Formats: sequence, structure tokens, C-alpha cells
Amino acid sequence: MTEEAADTDRRVPRGWLAGVRRNLGAAFSGLGNVVAPALCLSCHDRTASHDALCAGCWQQVAFITPPLCHRLGLPLPFGGDGLQISAAAAADPPPYDRARAAAAFGGVARELIHDFKYSDRHEVRRLLAHWMVRAGSEILVDADILVPVPMTRWRLVRRQFNQAALLAREISRSSGVRFDPSALVKTKRTPTQVGSSAAQRVANVAGAFAVTAAGRRRVAGRNVILIDDVITTGATVGACARALRAAGAQRVDVLVAAMVADPRRVDL
Ligand SMILES: [Zn+2]
Repeated sequence: MTEEAADTDRRVPRGWLAGVRRNLGAAFSGLGNVVAPALCLSCHDRTASHDALCAGCWQQVAFITPPLCHRLGLPLPFGGDGLQISAAAAADPPPYDRARAAAAFGGVARELIHDFKYSDRHEVRRLLAHWMVRAGSEILVDADILVPVPMTRWRLVRRQFNQAALLAREISRSSGVRFDPSALVKTKRTPTQVGSSAAQRVANVAGAFAVTAAGRRRVAGRNVILIDDVITTGATVGACARALRAAGAQRVDVLVAAMVADPRRVDL
């Protein structure tokens, strides 16, 4: 604050000045929307509305739509009566109840998640969360808490933010389901999953997550949704789901922005 402004602050009643500032702030934020052109969040070309994709990029997102495998959330080639379970889920049931993803991991969806993961572009976060609320409507309807997949403290210090927690907080705001960022913790550092086989990934994360003593009281008997950005093989969310179940969670579902449609393709 300049000396002149500080002087003004002393002479003018504080409430009046605060009112002027509020009104000016509102006027300028409105003006910002008019002046700043709306740009596509992926290719940065001009587009019709803020926080959105242009038509060309939108068409490159492989949104996952029904019919779906009830357990894995993977798209099925054809629908049928009642709940459908894919052959993969029947042969090897996942440690969680139901997973849902907004899009198949690849192309524009992959680029957006990468941008968000390494720089927290907040407008990308809002778009991904919006997609997730829509894709997860079936599991959000009777959920009690949203639990983000945690990072170790060491990793959090290096990265400065946990992208899963940011998504969970955004989804909590729009769905009204409670956000619980501290019930589940990562108790040991695990090697990077990039380049590991599916079996190695499961071994890497086994026993790496735990529910805290205080978290147990909030999780027991509740319907929990685990939130993450991507499911590749499902090893990480599987290990988290096991920890939540051991703590007495009634149901554990998983909601992510994107999942690898063919789990054998595990490169990130
Ligand atoms: Zn675009």
C-alpha cells in the first residue's frame, strides 16, 4: 500500500471504503470476462465459452458412456437387461465396488490431465471435476464421503499439491458430498508405476495406504468414493480400497477423470 493510500484509509470511514472496493472489484471482474477472450483449454484457440474446449478438441475426447461394466466402469459393446458385468470383472473382481470415469485415457483427455497434474491449471481442474460429477452421478447419489488418493508427505512437499485432493474438493463443492482429505494416508514411499507391469504395480502399492484412527470413525459404515485423476491398472485405487474396507467402509466406489480402456496399456 502506498503512503497516500494509507493516509486515505485513515481519513475515510473504513466501512465506506470497503464498500467502494467491493463494488470496484465486482465491476472489474465482470469486465474481465468481457475483455479476456474465451480460449480452448487444450489448443488455446478462441472458443464460445470460458473453461471449455473448442468443438474440434471436444470431439477428440473419448467420453465413456453406457452401456458399462457395472464394476469396472469400462464401456461394453452392447447393452442388456439389469446390471452387466464384464468378463474381466467376473474373472478377477476388483477390490472396490464400482469405478466410473469421465473419459478413456488418451489424446486430449491425457493432455489435459497432464497439464493439471504438473501445473494445477485451475480452469482445467474445474472442467475435469465437472465431467467427473456427470460420469459419477450414479455413485454420488448415496455417497457419504469423498476420499482422495493420498501422496506421501515427501511427495506432497515436492509437488506442492495433491491433484486428487483438488479434484475431490471441487467435486464436493458441486455435489454436496463431504470432502475428507485426511482419513486415508500413504504410509510408505512406492517406486514410480510408470513402466511397471500390472503384477509389479499391485506388489509396489500393497500395504502402502492406511486409514488413520480418526479416519476410522468417519469411514466405518459409510459409503466412500475414492477420487483420483487416472486409473491405469487399478493397482493404486485397489490398495486404497482394501485399506478403506479394512477400516469398516460399507461401500468403496472409485471416481476418476479418465481410465485406460485397455488395462494392458499402462504407459503414462
Ligand atoms: Zn481446442
